[in-house]
Amino acid sequence: MKEIVIKTRNLTKKYKDSIVLNNVNLDIKRGEIYGLVGKNGAGKTTLIRMLSGLSFPTNGEIELFNGFGENGLNKARRRIGVIIETPCFFPYLSARKNLEYYKIQRGIDDEEVVKNTLKFIGLEDTGNKKFKNFSLGMKQRLGLGLAIMSNPDLLILDEPINGLDPAGIVEIREILLRLNKEKNVTIIISSHILSELEQLTTQYGFINKGELIEQISAKKLEEKLKSCIVIKVDNVEKATAIIENQLGCKDYEVLNDKNIRLMQLVDKPEMIAQALVMSGIKLYSLNQNGLNLEDYFMNLIGGNKNA
Ligand code: ATP
Repeated sequence: MKEIVIKTRNLTKKYKDSIVLNNVNLDIKRGEIYGLVGKNGAGKTTLIRMLSGLSFPTNGEIELFNGFGENGLNKARRRIGVIIETPCFFPYLSARKNLEYYKIQRGIDDEEVVKNTLKFIGLEDTGNKKFKNFSLGMKQRLGLGLAIMSNPDLLILDEPINGLDPAGIVEIREILLRLNKEKNVTIIISSHILSELEQLTTQYGFINKGELIEQISAKKLEEKLKSCIVIKVDNVEKATAIIENQLGCKDYEVLNDKNIRLMQLVDKPEMIAQALVMSGIKLYSLNQNGLNLEDYFMNLIGGNKNA
């Protein structure tokens, strides 16, 4: 069985009277790329700050690499690289000089570490170019370089692709995938850009209003999204009666006041369409491709993007 890297039990954070995180039970195993998905204000940064030791839970427990309690967590956190905000770099120094500074500051012995890190993040040819003249993508990659310089087993990243252009996003994604594949680094990455997480993540944690509402593997989610039919009708109540009584389908879900998701009869779209139309229901659309990730998330948190 794979080693548990992060485990939280009933993790809760309150600020005065407002509960920002409520009883979060997180399970992240070695080698996973865990996508923490939530809208702005859902509680992602709060959760990540607590995992990183930058803020303390009001209630509940954190276990990292089987270590818990103050000493256990302090020891475990030596194995973690974190990027929460853009790290502080010297604007007039090059990428190499900036990393050399942090190498000394952190007491890293490896003489090759700066050269190897620059190569890994694709900044080995930036020469004397000053940090202040870097593109945002280059700055983000240097931040990533700083986080991986001490060879972490776990990388915690809060919205690392925020604000990047498509090329910058691809570069970060490729570095993360290589870290995961070549160095077996476990990664937890928060984002609200679902399409980008989709190409990285092996496990999802959906967070809404401080609650972890679902944890699901990317594989299971993919199957779940595919193996359904979504129909859009004018009268959901009437349509569900037909679906249940006439078509004998019990495995369906009303998504909102127009859309219904059927997990049965997925290979019989013509039968569904015929039964509904014959009963006088207006069928606006029938989508055999099921849902995309964004629709799924919106439905999960009670949004009505499809309405
Ligand atoms: P974003 O992507 O906007 O950063 P998020 O999911 O990371 O969103 P958090 O930053 O964790 O969300 O914030 C969750 C909630 O906690 C928000 O309502 C925020 O206003 C509140 N919050 C965060 N820090 C504090 C604080 N120090 N004092 C009071 N409330 C706070």
